[in-house]
Amino acid sequence: MRKKRIVILGGGFSGVKCAQTLSRALPRDGAEIVLFNRENHLVFTPLLADVIGASVNPLDVVVPLRQLLTGVHCRTEEVTAVHVARNEIEYHSSDGHTCRLGYDHLVLACGNVANLHTVPGMADHAFPLKNIGDAIALRSHVMEQMEKAETCSDAERRRWFLSFIIVGAGYSGVEAAGEINDLVRSSARYFENFRAQDVTVTLIHSRDQILPEINEKLRGFARRKMERAGVKILLNARVASATAEGVALEGGQFVRGGTVVCTVGSSPAAILQRLAALKEKGRLLTDADLRVRGTTNVWATGDCAQIVNAHDGRLSAPTGQFAERQGRQCAWNIARSLRGELTRPFSFKPVGQLCSIGGHAAVAEFQGIRLSGFLAWLLWRGVYLFKLPAWARRCQVGFDWAWQLLFPRDLAHLRARQTDRVSHAHYQPGDVILRQGEESASFYVIETGEVEVVRTSGDPGQVEVINVLGPSSFFGEKALLSNEPLVCSVRARTAVKVLVMGRNVFTQVSATLAPLRDAIAETLNRRSIDLRKMHPEVHEALKGVAIRELMETVPQPLFKPSSTMREVGRAFAEHSHELFYICGDGQMLEGVVTMTDWMRALSRGTGPETPVAELMARHPITLSIEDDGAVAATVVREHRVKNLPVVQSESNRRLVGCVRTRRLMAHVFSRVGRPEHPGSKTIQ
Ligand SMILES: Cc1cc2nc3c(=O)[nH]c(=O)nc-3n(C[C@H](O)[C@H](O)[C@H](O)COP(=O)(O)OP(=O)(O)OC[C@H]3O[C@@H](n4cnc5c(N)ncnc54)[C@H](O)[C@@H]3O)c2cc1C
Repeated sequence: MRKKRIVILGGGFSGVKCAQTLSRALPRDGAEIVLFNRENHLVFTPLLADVIGASVNPLDVVVPLRQLLTGVHCRTEEVTAVHVARNEIEYHSSDGHTCRLGYDHLVLACGNVANLHTVPGMADHAFPLKNIGDAIALRSHVMEQMEKAETCSDAERRRWFLSFIIVGAGYSGVEAAGEINDLVRSSARYFENFRAQDVTVTLIHSRDQILPEINEKLRGFARRKMERAGVKILLNARVASATAEGVALEGGQFVRGGTVVCTVGSSPAAILQRLAALKEKGRLLTDADLRVRGTTNVWATGDCAQIVNAHDGRLSAPTGQFAERQGRQCAWNIARSLRGELTRPFSFKPVGQLCSIGGHAAVAEFQGIRLSGFLAWLLWRGVYLFKLPAWARRCQVGFDWAWQLLFPRDLAHLRARQTDRVSHAHYQPGDVILRQGEESASFYVIETGEVEVVRTSGDPGQVEVINVLGPSSFFGEKALLSNEPLVCSVRARTAVKVLVMGRNVFTQVSATLAPLRDAIAETLNRRSIDLRKMHPEVHEALKGVAIRELMETVPQPLFKPSSTMREVGRAFAEHSHELFYICGDGQMLEGVVTMTDWMRALSRGTGPETPVAELMARHPITLSIEDDGAVAATVVREHRVKNLPVVQSESNRRLVGCVRTRRLMAHVFSRVGRPEHPGSKTIQ
């Protein structure tokens, strides 16, 4: 008789328990069990916070699947598609080919993934906490922040390095906050430049209580204990955006910190998003016996499924405890259905809740008993030690914990230099992106928004704006090429999104892409003309001259984004302007359309009724009323424009006028006469 093949997709708590139970329940010659997992190990997530806090070693919380699952074919491969109608899965083999494998029964146990994209800037600036890689990266980062604080001479910046923000006060958020707080405060004695009092750990939660799943008394205990240990708890606080400087809360408060850890937000595994099956909020709906609704041989367990617990009629919690029990029940049901017996519904009475809160304390509800403090912490450690799936790991973790009771945490961290990458970053107005005097390791291209280049000279408070850069402009290239500290700072003028290229990527791309190389060379050349040094008299004539004095009325008429190409064409024909501004309600500047844009659109065959929004350049570079003539001259030169729109302020983009090159030059000539420069006869 042909062996029945049972394919399990996912080697987390539920997939592993299902595979273990099946391999015991089914005869070897009657069934083949194949488990696919992206990694070759199971991650014991309840101890991830301990990895961050250096209480256990990263390798101690992962267990190789091959050694754990004897009698199961473990495949470290990514499954890319499930074809329910054909009883097949599709996966990428190691040689890059797409392969198919048929199944008699399929168990979907693929968990979920962290999703930081629901809050602007979170994905760019926060650390997720979902897998072992996240925990290792965070542990390294925390150590690095302490090292940076030690060598930082600026007290405010030092405190920023030592400020840690944890978003979400569920189990993982509370445990991470407790561990980071313990690690950094207890390590302060090894550093000379800061003390435990300089450390700030802030736990932010959107509800009115931390650990909402746990009993009220225990919750209260956890909160008081953590606050006494120095953790700041912000309740009823929602994060509106994250930047490199910290997080902004809804309501306007800004919490500064050099480290943001996000423990909230998840979405279904990618493979489920492509699967046509009944789902609720992305999780698979199952029948009572864990079979995916509408199927006969596809089952779902763990975090990827929404499963009703027959014990109390409530939805199962997305925890390891439930995932394991569902994995086991699913295996029994598959074995029953292979024997032609009736399956049973999933029913489980939760054993309890455990959460460590730092400072050798925990809260625990276990078999109806409530405990808090040191005893609960001992119970927490005992339970998780026992639950680790291999004796080797139990011994290793037990040893790590015993070691820690006698000796301090290990502050060594491997500086494994990562390959450079290209990423995006998000900054709020006023955030410093590059700091004068520091070294830059990246090249930045502005995607949206504006930045200003500022120089601090003499008095520390004396900051001079020397340039404004907008979308498509880049910065950071000079320090990167010269390997010298930055001579200016760059800070966000509006909310800004940038593309960030590490040094190696930048070197490779610019070496192979001639247009980028040429653009950089040209920009470097242009930026090397420092008006202040080469024509101090021109700089003086423009410095401090209010934009109002140089401003003129904007070319009329003003158009709306919905105005048509025909209307704009008629205006070009009737007036001598080379461009028109496009404004939304309240005269808010949205774009600009030049005669060249219009001609290009015409030659592409764009219809006369096409809205001008489709051909305008969006978010043009602007000056604000607060700028002066010297900034206007630099911006004109940087962006090679003859007409610059002026808006009310950096935060209010109401169009109030424009500055023309001709007027700027006339102003200079009236004060100092025509400036001379070898090879360059004008200030442009
Ligand atoms: C930091 C943290 C702390 C936690 N602490 C606790 C705790 O103390 N107690 C508790 O009960 N629960 C805890 N949990 C929750 C618990 O980890 C989850 O509920 C549990 O892991 C869910 O198990 P699962 O098998 O459904 O999915 P997972 O454990 O997420 O496993 C899914 C597996 O599927 C693999 N996979 C996904 N898609 C594919 C694909 N296409 N191809 C191949 N492989 C794929 C993934 O790589 C992963 O290995 C914690 C979670 C986190 C993140």
